[in-house]
Amino acid sequence: MSLESVLFDEKKSSTYKFALVSAIIDYIIENPNEYPKNGFHNIPIIYLAKRWLYYYYPLMIYEEDGVRQGNTQIALSKIVREFNEKETNKQLVYSEPEAILNIKDKIESNYILSEQLVSLLIKMRRKVVEQPLKYIQIASNERREEELVEGINIKDPSFTLFGLINTSISLEEHDDYQKIRQKSESWGGTKKPYSWSDLEADETAYIQMGHYTYTELAKSRFFIKDAVIKRWIEFTIESYLKSDAKAIYALFHGLYLHTRVPERGTTQMRRLREIVASIFEPMRCIYCEEEIKSFDLDHFIPWSKYPIDRFLNLFPTCKTCNRKKSDKIIELEKRMQKRLANYLRVWLNYFRENPEELLSLGGKEAALFEMDSIDKSVKLLIEQIKGINNDLI
Ligand SMILES: [Zn+2]
Repeated sequence: MSLESVLFDEKKSSTYKFALVSAIIDYIIENPNEYPKNGFHNIPIIYLAKRWLYYYYPLMIYEEDGVRQGNTQIALSKIVREFNEKETNKQLVYSEPEAILNIKDKIESNYILSEQLVSLLIKMRRKVVEQPLKYIQIASNERREEELVEGINIKDPSFTLFGLINTSISLEEHDDYQKIRQKSESWGGTKKPYSWSDLEADETAYIQMGHYTYTELAKSRFFIKDAVIKRWIEFTIESYLKSDAKAIYALFHGLYLHTRVPERGTTQMRRLREIVASIFEPMRCIYCEEEIKSFDLDHFIPWSKYPIDRFLNLFPTCKTCNRKKSDKIIELEKRMQKRLANYLRVWLNYFRENPEELLSLGGKEAALFEMDSIDKSVKLLIEQIKGINNDLI
């Protein structure tokens, strides 16, 4: 069974398949050095749903004006329309494609999400389970025999590509998130409001990927992402050029919005800036080591290559160095490595004392604090940054 079974099993409508493959690659781009669990990487279905939302929302808005769509898109645009109807009375107008930037900010800053937004994500999630992943499930349960590749034991985890793992919940139950939560490891019997990391932590269904496949995909993740987007654009042009040029415009606009990240404007970045201002004192530029008054928060691995706002990649710079560095990749020679280590130690000490803060900022690095010393954690982070850097050079 492979990615092909998703891409070719159902030929009628393909846009959602591109969205799915893009979402999987997005996960790998965000977590290129993730540690496997029992040899596998578990990509949460709710994560895919979130990415789908980002890809689809602008397209769905155009649908209001009559862009031709397949069944999946019609179902999704209904969800978006319902969300709009409930939310448009509020401060922000949600009936514009650009509204996805506000929605993204809310989700990514990881504050408590409105009930409507949670419901939108959960409905998206159900669609992901129902539509493309249904075929993976069929493939893994019933068609394994014919999918066997000669000479390769498909049960060997290193060769397993994808499989939906979730046996405890039937398909009908996938829109009832309370039921899903109750079956999740993190269920503590409470019914507190959701933030994004709560939703992710309560997920019980994943796309499972063998470590070998994952690391191979991680090596060429940017290339694969570009290739998928290119093919998506080609597909849209081939399918719609004669009948509906608006669909092409909608796709371009959607993809443009998807990559347009309000880098310094997000609530999360604002919070990270506040923390930086309070913990690096006196504040010195990570590159020239001069003392700075008005600082920039630099993505050490450039945002264009590693589009994540996590503390391990964020350091204060003076304006001049930030401008000079731009989106260059900085080589980790000894001196630079030492400097990074010093800054990372300050970050880690802060989060050790304020663990809830780390959680509210996404909390992906919680495992670092299970180590017995800060130095070990720093070393691990440096290795991670080195690994990502080497992939890019
Ligand atoms: Zn400087």
